[in-house]
Amino acid sequence: MDQQVNLSRRNLLRGQPVSMERPLRPPGAIAEALFTSQCTACGECVTACPQGIIFRGSGAYPEVNLRKAECTFCAACIDSCPEEVLQIAVQPPWRLRLQLEDRCLARRQVVCQTCGDACDADAIRFRPLLRSVARPQIDPDACTGCGACVAACPENALTVIAHG
Ligand code: SF4
Ligand code: SF4
Ligand code: SF4
Repeated sequence: MDQQVNLSRRNLLRGQPVSMERPLRPPGAIAEALFTSQCTACGECVTACPQGIIFRGSGAYPEVNLRKAECTFCAACIDSCPEEVLQIAVQPPWRLRLQLEDRCLARRQVVCQTCGDACDADAIRFRPLLRSVARPQIDPDACTGCGACVAACPENALTVIAHG
């Protein structure tokens, strides 16, 4: 549990419900049920993303792959959307948690701090452990959800879990 970050925690603390897991939509996506009813799958956001991380997923609806690269939150996708199902007013731009998988090198006793090095927000710390390699711990309050750590991990050991 301590290896996980839940960006929806602050919303939970505000008493807002968290719905089922869903694909990670481009930032600023409106509620999932509305999104899939109003998005026309036109692909404008896919073309607009300078990072190339938006792809056509199930039903041709856009999804984000943070393993390819981080999101800079440039808002090019939001600006490109003719249906306004991506909105700058939706904050945080998405809600996700990062799940550390067992294939993490540090979990397998191999020294690696690549994800921490990639995190400009300084949201990943490595706690020294007695007779064990230090493992990453993510501070959910400091994490912006940019995905830089996800893209940097040589083992693809950080799994993004999005919530609607
Ligand atoms: S905010 Fe920018 S980098 Fe992030 S998904 Fe949209 S277009 Fe791509
Ligand atoms: S630009 Fe808007 S309407 Fe078009 S695929 Fe992207 S989210 Fe859907
Ligand atoms: S690199 Fe980005 S997604 Fe990863 S922990 Fe840091 S702020 Fe969060």
